[in-house]
Amino acid sequence: MIDPPAFPEKTLSPNTNAAAVAACIFCRIVAGEIPSSKVFEDDHVIAFMDIAAVTDGHFLVIPRKHVETLYDLDAILAGHLLAVTTRLAKAAKKALRCDGMNLYQANEAAGGQEVPHLHLHVIPRYKGDSFGIRYNPTKPPREKLDEKAAKIRGAL
Ligand code: 5GP
Ligand code: ZN
Repeated sequence: MIDPPAFPEKTLSPNTNAAAVAACIFCRIVAGEIPSSKVFEDDHVIAFMDIAAVTDGHFLVIPRKHVETLYDLDAILAGHLLAVTTRLAKAAKKALRCDGMNLYQANEAAGGQEVPHLHLHVIPRYKGDSFGIRYNPTKPPREKLDEKAAKIRGAL
């Protein structure tokens, strides 16, 4: 078992936005109101198979509490979520004998997020499978890269 660091009260506090929680499909899975094929659960996170698997063995890892996006996630829960996800990814690699593995996480509609309850996709990959992310790479000059890096650093 993974022993998470001590969780502050904030992390364990109940969801306060009852309307949002009642409308949230993943909160309903957490509550057991909707069936799911569970891979793992502990006091803070659960993992279950994605009903529209993009590859064989695709599953999701989510915090139990209703956290909408990465921007709302505190560092301790983030650490635990990634620790559990890492353990599950290793188990999936061993069990499914996949050729590779992707982690994918979407925020906001523009980022492709469909369910507004934070989730990490664990996507086993197989040679020749159909999963992919479409993009057009650019080659920004160094000055541009430095400028963007400084801008993000400035917001820390
Ligand atoms: P997103 O596009 O928000 O990153 O991913 C949402 C994921 O949740 C999709 O892959 C979708 O198939 C999955 N999903 C949506 N509703 C349900 C559900 O009721 N049960 C399960 N197991 N997965 C769901
Ligand atoms: Zn939720």
